[in-house]
Amino acid sequence: SDGPAGLGVRLAGRAVPRIGLGTWELGDSLRTRDAEAAAIRVGLDLGLRVIDTAEMYGNGASEELVGEAIAGRRDEVVLVSKVLPSNASRSGTVQACERSLRRLRTDHLDLYLLHWPGSQPLAETLAGFQDLQRAGKIRHWGVSNFDVGEMAELAALAGGPGVATDQVLYNLTRRGPELDLLPWCRERGLPVMAYSPVEQGRLLGHPVLAEIAGRHEVTPAQVALAWAIRGGGICAIPRTGSVAHVRENAAALHLALTPDDLADLDRAFPVPDRPVPLEML
Ligand code: NDP
Repeated sequence: SDGPAGLGVRLAGRAVPRIGLGTWELGDSLRTRDAEAAAIRVGLDLGLRVIDTAEMYGNGASEELVGEAIAGRRDEVVLVSKVLPSNASRSGTVQACERSLRRLRTDHLDLYLLHWPGSQPLAETLAGFQDLQRAGKIRHWGVSNFDVGEMAELAALAGGPGVATDQVLYNLTRRGPELDLLPWCRERGLPVMAYSPVEQGRLLGHPVLAEIAGRHEVTPAQVALAWAIRGGGICAIPRTGSVAHVRENAAALHLALTPDDLADLDRAFPVPDRPVPLEML
């Protein structure tokens, strides 16, 4: 199925809802750990399937939390993790993945990403991804924080067109990708993962978001999420350690913004008038 309301996106060979679960900074504190694991499990109960983590997050603490939260439910999850650029030589990529698998208590990832472009030759990282695919340790591979020029460079490598996603910063205050990167991906049928979709919370006090939220009796976070996924081909991965917020975020799949809402948002958050380099958090 395409997930709730048919609002799906095809990611790593699976139809998944357009909203998933980010996990940066989750698992860092013992005090909040149980609530965070509960939030992940409620997300799965609600049909959210994509869980995004990285070896970088809390030096493995996020992956360990995810491993605990999904224990016994691995099949429900489209599990995404990332290799640090400094580890992304051919053999370094394989070893980093094996460490991630141990922390996640699983034998495979659905999607493994290069966290951002680094100094290791891309062909080396790609060879590592292919080694992992052959060994059954990852199903698909992709990249993160790649701008359109870097995507073109990647696509020109042998095996490069096998890339399964680009995970990038995209929200109402970061609309640059609409001018170049999103069309590039759309033309190639490449799904995009939108990170920091509520700008790490900074978006949520905006008066225009509050006004639109009021019209629909929803929250500003739900408006920001519904906006991010409006065009299709995008999976937004908000992070929350709160069960109440994960319920809100999942319900945003059902929020249809009207042409008036979208026009108000365009005025409050204009697209840049010329292409800008991809931003990163
Ligand atoms: P987000 O934009 O997801 O914002 C997270 C913040 O928003 C948290 O403080 C959370 O607080 C709050 N929040 C979430 N939902 C709600 C809600 N419904 N109502 C009110 N507040 C809410 O920022 P992130 O930077 O965490 O991005 C999301 C994910 O994207 C990351 O966790 C990570 O997985 C990925 N990412 C990837 C990057 C990359 O380089 N590839 C870079 C940055 C992020 P609370 O816990 O209280 O709900």
